Amino acid sequence: MTMKFDVKEIESVCTYCGVGCDITGVVENNKITKIYAQKDGVVSQGKLCIKGKFGFDFVDSDERIREPRIRRSFIDKNPKLKAKFEEKLKVFDDTFWTCDLDTATSIASMKLQEIKDTFGSESFCAIGGARTNCESSYSFQKFCREIMESPHVDNCARVCHSPSLKGMKTTIGEGAATNPYNDIYDTEFMIVIGSNTMEAHPIVANRIVDMAKKENNLAIIDVRETKMVKYAKHNCIIPYESNLLILNMMAYVIMNEEIYDESFIENRTDGFEAFKESILNDPYANPDFFKDIEGYEYLAKMIPNIAREYAVKKSMIFWGLGITEHLDGSYAVMAITHLALMTGNIGKRGAGLMPLRGQNNVQGACDMGCLPYYLPDYQDAPNVGLMTPQLIDGMVDGSIKALLNMGEDITHIHPNINKIEKAIKNLEFIMVQELFMTDIAQHADIVIGVRSAYEKTGVYVNAMRRLHLSQPLVQSDLPDDWEVLKLLTEKLGHDFKHETSEEIWQEVTEVAHRRFSGAQYYRLARHRKRGMQWPIYHEDTPILHLLDFRTDNGLGKYVYHQYEPRGMIQEILDREFYADGLDGFYLTTGRTLAHYNNSAQTKHTKKLYNNHSEDTLLASVEDEGKFGDKVILKTEYGETTVLNVKYTDKVKPRTLFITFHHARSRINAIFGDDMDELIMTARFKSLRVTVVPQ
Ligand code: SF4
Repeated sequence: MTMKFDVKEIESVCTYCGVGCDITGVVENNKITKIYAQKDGVVSQGKLCIKGKFGFDFVDSDERIREPRIRRSFIDKNPKLKAKFEEKLKVFDDTFWTCDLDTATSIASMKLQEIKDTFGSESFCAIGGARTNCESSYSFQKFCREIMESPHVDNCARVCHSPSLKGMKTTIGEGAATNPYNDIYDTEFMIVIGSNTMEAHPIVANRIVDMAKKENNLAIIDVRETKMVKYAKHNCIIPYESNLLILNMMAYVIMNEEIYDESFIENRTDGFEAFKESILNDPYANPDFFKDIEGYEYLAKMIPNIAREYAVKKSMIFWGLGITEHLDGSYAVMAITHLALMTGNIGKRGAGLMPLRGQNNVQGACDMGCLPYYLPDYQDAPNVGLMTPQLIDGMVDGSIKALLNMGEDITHIHPNINKIEKAIKNLEFIMVQELFMTDIAQHADIVIGVRSAYEKTGVYVNAMRRLHLSQPLVQSDLPDDWEVLKLLTEKLGHDFKHETSEEIWQEVTEVAHRRFSGAQYYRLARHRKRGMQWPIYHEDTPILHLLDFRTDNGLGKYVYHQYEPRGMIQEILDREFYADGLDGFYLTTGRTLAHYNNSAQTKHTKKLYNNHSEDTLLASVEDEGKFGDKVILKTEYGETTVLNVKYTDKVKPRTLFITFHHARSRINAIFGDDMDELIMTARFKSLRVTVVPQ
C-alpha cells in the first residue's frame, strides 16, 4: 500500500470475471476514484477490460442494501416473530420493514430453527454465488452441512462449468486449468472452442490474439462468428449441439492418420486401444459425415486440418460455456481431454487444457466445497445433497422449505424461471445476502446487505488456480458474507470459532490441506503480485500433471461417448431445417463485454450500463425481412418480453444470439429443464425457438 497525501493506492483483484486481473485502486477519502493495472501485473499485463477499469461506481451506489430488509407479509405470517421483534422493525417501504443486523439475524435464526424442527434438516438448502471470497464460501457450506445439518449446498457453477469439473476429474483426476495463462506464449497451436473469449475473458484473449497475430496458429470453433475470428487461421463455424461430434471426429482423424503420441499414450494413459476401436467404429466420427450436412460441408475438410495441426504441435485448448451448457457438456469435456491425452498435449509448458471459468471466484467456491457431492478439497461428501435443479423440484413438491441464497440470482440466471418463480412461492423462508435488490432479493423474506469484493479481505481463486489475497479498497460498515453466517451460527447455539477472515482461512489450509496447506495469508500477501497457483505446499504449482494424473492409478482415462444426431443436425439430415416458417430457429446465449452475468454490479455503473442497456437479438442478414425489428421468442416453457433485433453476417441463417444480462428481457423464461445428463447444467447454448414478430 502506498500513501500520497490523502490519496491511497491499494492493490487488489478485479471483482468480475474468472481471469482474475490484478488491479490497483486509487482511493480518495474512502472513495474509489480510479482503477488501473500496474504495468508489471502478472495477470493483467498492465491492461484491464472495460469492466475492470470502470466498473466500480456500484460500490457507492444509492441502491446498495445498507440495512437489512424484512418482508412485511413474512412477519404477518409468523406471529411469534412478530410478537418478539415488532418493536425493532421500522418502515422501509410498502413491502419491507427494516431493522439492524442483530435483529435480522435473530429473526432468521429463529425461523431456520423452526423449519429444521418442523420439517427436518434436509428441508433446508443453500445456493451460493461465486462473487464472494473463499472464506465466505467455506463458511457457507459449513453452515449448511454442520449447523443446518443439510447436504444441500450448491453454487453457480451448476449453470456454468460443473461439466468441466466432471469431465476433467473423470479423465485426468483434477477439474481445473492445467497451465498458467502465460503458457500461451510457449504454445505452437491454440484451439478456442465454445468461448467468446474477447468479450467474456478479454485479458486472456489479449494473449491469444498476440500469438495468433505473430504465429497464425489459432483455430476457433463455434456456432457463430465471435470477435476473435479475425485473428484465426481456422474459422470453424459448426452446427448447434455438435461439439462432441466434432471432438470425436478430431480423435478419429488423429487415430486414422496415426499422428498420436505413442510414448505418452503408453506411459501416461490407460485404455487407449479400446477407445481407438470405439472411435474408429463410431458411425459419426468420420468427418466425411459433414459432406451431407447442408450449409456445413466445409467442415469435412476443416476438421481434419485442425486435428492434424493440434496433434503434431505443442497445443492448448481453451473452452467456455459453449462446451459445457449442453446435454452432453461433460462428455464433450472428456472428449477434449482425450485429444490432449492422445497427443501428449498436457503436463508440460505450452501444452494443456484451459476451461475459462466464469466468475471471479467460481474456482474457489468449488474448491471450498460449495457442491452437493464434494466437501472442501474435493473430498467425497458422505451424504450427497441435491443439485440446484433437483432442489427446485424439491421446492415444487414441498420437500424443500427454506433457501439461503448468497449472491446468486436464481430467478434471473437459472433456466425455466417461470417454474422457479412458482417453486419459490412454496418456500416457508428465503433469505438473501446481496449487494443490490436483485431479482431473487425481490422475492426474499429477509435480505441482508453485505460488503462487495472491493470492501473486504479474502482469498479469490482465478481460472488458472491462482490465489489472490484481496484487500479492501474502501472501508465499509456492512458485514462480510461470513460475518452474517457467524451471527446465524451463534444464534443457532453453535460456536463459529473465528473472529477474522484470516482465522477462517487458517482452518481452510488445514481442512483443505491437499491444495492449500502452504497458502497462509502471510505467504499470499508476500506473493500478492505474482500470485500462487494451487496446490501450494512449500512451492506452488503453475503446471499440473507433470508426472502423473490425479486419477487413482495416476494414468489418464478415456471415457468414450458416442454422439447421437439430434436437433439442428437431424433436421438438416431430414431436409427440414431450412424451412420458411418462423418456428425452428436455433438460439444461443452469451455475455457481452460490458456486463457480467445478471449485471448485479455492472448495471450500477453508468458507463457500463449505457454501453449495453438492453439484450438485443442478433439474427442473420439472410433472414432479414422475415420478422422485422421487434420480436418475442417463444417456447413451450414461456416467452421473452419484446426484443429489438439486429441483423448481422456473424450468425448463420436460422440461428440467433442474445445476451441475458437484463432480468426484464426474461430470456431464461424460454428455457426448460434440458440439462447435461451427468451434472445437470442447463442447456443454455442451444434452444429451438419460435420467432413471433411484434
Ligand atoms: S478480464 Fe475479467 S478480471 Fe480482467 S479486468 Fe476484465 S473483467 Fe476484470
